[in-house]
Amino acid sequence: MIRTRFAPSPTGHLHLGSARVALFCWLVAMSEKGEFWLRIEDTDPERSQEIFTQSIIESLNWLGLDFKGPIYQSKRLEYYQKTVQTFLSKGLAYKCYCSRERLQALREQQTARKEKPRYDGHCRELAASKTPSQGSYVIRFKTPLDGTVQFEDLIHGLLSVNNAELDDLIIAREGGFPTYNFAAVLDDLDMKITQVIRGDDHLTNTFRQVHIFKALGAPLPTYVHIPMILGKDGGRLSKRHGATSILEYRQAGYLPDALLNYLARLGWAHGDQEVFTRQELIEFFDIHKVQKSAATFNPEKLLWINQQHLKNTDPKILSKHLLWHFSQMGIDSKNGPPLEDVLLAQRERGKTLQEVADKSRYFYQDLVTYDSKAASLHLTANRLPAFKTLFTLLSDLSHWEESILHKTLLEAASTSALTLGELAGPLRVAMTGDTVSPPIGTTLSVIGKARVLLRLEKAILFLEEKHLAS
Ligand code: GLU
Repeated sequence: MIRTRFAPSPTGHLHLGSARVALFCWLVAMSEKGEFWLRIEDTDPERSQEIFTQSIIESLNWLGLDFKGPIYQSKRLEYYQKTVQTFLSKGLAYKCYCSRERLQALREQQTARKEKPRYDGHCRELAASKTPSQGSYVIRFKTPLDGTVQFEDLIHGLLSVNNAELDDLIIAREGGFPTYNFAAVLDDLDMKITQVIRGDDHLTNTFRQVHIFKALGAPLPTYVHIPMILGKDGGRLSKRHGATSILEYRQAGYLPDALLNYLARLGWAHGDQEVFTRQELIEFFDIHKVQKSAATFNPEKLLWINQQHLKNTDPKILSKHLLWHFSQMGIDSKNGPPLEDVLLAQRERGKTLQEVADKSRYFYQDLVTYDSKAASLHLTANRLPAFKTLFTLLSDLSHWEESILHKTLLEAASTSALTLGELAGPLRVAMTGDTVSPPIGTTLSVIGKARVLLRLEKAILFLEEKHLAS
């Protein structure tokens, strides 16, 4: 069975790049009816924070990337430490007592000689000579001194490096906490991970991990290193290119399926199709076809894809997300029309759900306040007779339906010798407080009879006062 894992370190929020890794892991697992696991790599107590673990989980849940787990590395320390002991007793690793000062001096000398900074094996030799040492120590893995190490990557092909390029990796820090490269291998093995999919910033780590797999006598998983996402300026995607955290995108009104669609299309294509449902992604996604070069983030395209999803997604699904936005905005969604009705009327009027939510406040308010410019332009005293006629006609309606409302508006307009537009403009301000809304019949129908009459009453009073003042 295919088993993939997403293994974030909880040192920050889930951002676009890592969400794309998680998505690819999830898609590979889902398309093969396999398992997708979440592993929290929290063995660095100084950098890991629980709030980030929670934020990553919240992001994955919102994206709908269902996972098994999570498995917390911090709860498995004993297991790693036991293996470290085995490595020591088998002579695969050694204790390194080198002080920070020695390592710092070594680094400086190497840099001055224009060499790549690397550990010089000082304690490896001491360990071999069985010279007793004292003080605090780390554990280093004995990297083979010559030969090469290689692995086959699904995207990059066969990769290899001379062992002479790699120094002796620290596998356990002072105090016994394992390092990433060591714990990751033990877990990938223990969790029976079949495809290790991660960012290609880990390529050099993989050589080291291959050594550990070999030391354990275990077969390698399939490796897939996916390219980075870059900003338009060619730099690694970061804050200066705009929002990067997934939860910021939620806040800004992006839909999870739109984000997934966009992230999947970054560096991968299926013919010329741009808009994919989640199900289509599972069906068509092919990890072998992910391109080798870095992908460039294009916020305009993401916005366009979001708009397509907003237009095409089942309003039932959208309403769950709209509800979230309303609660963030302090709008009581029970105090107004069903969310699905609002969505059907409004979803083509914004590129994000946040925009739609913001433009839909007036559906949930008892009375609206008029924008002063809109009121002075449209709510003029000469509309008073038409508003009064309309009030009577609307009060008498027993069916509150768009087509009937439309007819009623025509009738009220013609009775007052107005065009529909001459009535609809002021009426829109009376209903919404401003000049933008869906077609007036739709607007009235969604606002509902009781509120329409209340708002009309308020507008009539407003116009009467204006009339008296004039
Ligand atoms: N904790 C590593 C990271 O967040 C995981 C890399 C891997 O998938 O092995 O980059």
